[in-house]
Amino acid sequence: MNRVLINIKGVVQGVGFRPFIYNLAKSLNLKGTVTNTADGVAIDIEGKDITPFIDRIPKEAPPLSEINKIDISPMPFYGYENFEIIKSLDSGSFTLISSDVSICDDCLKELLDKDNRRYLYPFINCINCGPRYTITNAVPYDRHNTTMSVFKMCNECESEYNNTSDRRFHAQPNACHKCGPYLEFKIQDSRFKKKKILSKQL
Ligand SMILES: [Zn+2]
Ligand SMILES: [Zn+2]
Repeated sequence: MNRVLINIKGVVQGVGFRPFIYNLAKSLNLKGTVTNTADGVAIDIEGKDITPFIDRIPKEAPPLSEINKIDISPMPFYGYENFEIIKSLDSGSFTLISSDVSICDDCLKELLDKDNRRYLYPFINCINCGPRYTITNAVPYDRHNTTMSVFKMCNECESEYNNTSDRRFHAQPNACHKCGPYLEFKIQDSRFKKKKILSKQL
């Protein structure tokens, strides 16, 4: 059994990196933690198959991520019982945040699907698309550090956010008609005598 601390720098926040690490660690039966730090992602990992784990990180990293640097330091064995995504460490102040990413194919399909609960929801997003940079107020990139902090996730969104096999697992801007921001379209048409305001909530 070995244990190492892996620090990864680059565009690794808000792009599905922690869920990716979580699933990779689980698939190799490794234990430990992953967390966003102020300058990237830190993985504390122990178990037998650490070498394949490290090899697979750059090869299988999420499409929107960009790894600039991986630092590995050996650590004394700790004895973790499982692998967890833990709360970010709020120290320091520099990291790279992904730019906003236009809608992915999966979200587009949902957007146009009448039976989907996000049918025509203008702020639909997932771990592979959606806003990043423009909603970030501070780092690490976590919901409470974004403009989404004022929108409390509904039960459905929350369960997606917590489901490791969901495309919205730890997607910080996760939202829907019920709980997220909405668009209001108002027309003041002078042809109406009573200056009626037409509004449509999408
Ligand atoms: Zn998407
Ligand atoms: Zn919701």
